[in-house]
Amino acid sequence: MSRVWNFSAGPAVLPEEVLRQAADEMLDWHGSGMGVMEMSHRGKEFTAIAAQAEADLRELLAVPAGYRVLFMQGGAIAENAIIPMNLMGDRRVADYVVTGSWSQKSQKEARKYAEVNIAASSEAGGFTTVPAMADWRLSADPAYVFTCTNETIGGLEYPFEPDLAQIGRGEVPVVADMSSHILSRVIDVSKYGLIFGGAQKNIGPAGLTIVIVREDLLGRAMPHCPTAFDFKTVADNGSMYNTPPTYGIYIAGLVFQWLKRQGGVAAIEAQNVAKAKLLYDFLDASDFYENRIDPACRSRMNVPFFLKDEALNDAFLVESKAAGLVQLKGHKSVGGMRASIYNAMPLAGVQALVDFLRDFAARRG
Ligand code: PMP
Repeated sequence: MSRVWNFSAGPAVLPEEVLRQAADEMLDWHGSGMGVMEMSHRGKEFTAIAAQAEADLRELLAVPAGYRVLFMQGGAIAENAIIPMNLMGDRRVADYVVTGSWSQKSQKEARKYAEVNIAASSEAGGFTTVPAMADWRLSADPAYVFTCTNETIGGLEYPFEPDLAQIGRGEVPVVADMSSHILSRVIDVSKYGLIFGGAQKNIGPAGLTIVIVREDLLGRAMPHCPTAFDFKTVADNGSMYNTPPTYGIYIAGLVFQWLKRQGGVAAIEAQNVAKAKLLYDFLDASDFYENRIDPACRSRMNVPFFLKDEALNDAFLVESKAAGLVQLKGHKSVGGMRASIYNAMPLAGVQALVDFLRDFAARRG
């Protein structure tokens, strides 16, 4: 068996240890005589798996009391509707900060359920920066302020936590789409009203959506909100109002345990800083490649880059694949290349990429 260096933006590489453990347990989980996919979600085995996954996630992110962790389905795109349906309450307006494709999509979807105020946008500059909080123009009484703290397609990451208390609006809940950088860096959960993300980057298989929501935001759903997507119903039923994505929760739990063995989020953050520095430093020093994002706002997880001679793109993709480096093609809306270097991508993988980049430039430059 040979494994490639997989730079996919998601579904993405998972820790090999986790995949091996899942393989070992596939037919018989802990002597139960059943695989996890075959278990009742209400049985004692799976209930224990879900409870441990939640406890480990809470520990890793230091989730304070007063927040509920929900295991849902539908992915982050479904949350774009589920969130306004749950959080608008009796308010009219929701504020959005637009920093790239994903927050753009979010604000468009929200217009079905709310009046949307664009509090800030970096669109005019081609989404290469995150607008400073001092420049956010919040409406008078928004239900929440929506942010996407890591734009997977653009490769843009907030270099600060959107703590509205700093602009005197601490009463407004912050919602954050953290799909592509959750668990990659230390965050202060207490600064947010709601954090969500699809699992398929840093957590596990597609199909599982994580929601961490402050309890006072529960119980405001619009009457037509589907019951299975009413956060209060999901919370009151321990994420088992409907059948949750059981196998996804199990793999997520194995990833959380792997992360704890790595030393937790602060330890993985240090590795992520080192990995991103290795790649960006190489790109910056090269006159063959470039990254176009404001250096202060560059994503540690998703690194888009361009060959200055775009005529070489096809050769680059063919040769990188032959060298065992896959999924480097940039998103179609951006072009160029993109290397996603999530938690499970080791430094050795980024080093292999940099070695290839150097070699390709030397041969083709
Ligand atoms: N938000 C962000 C930041 C993402 O990266 C993605 C997926 N790439 C989505 C939303 C959409 O996720 P899904 O397709 O799982 O709904």
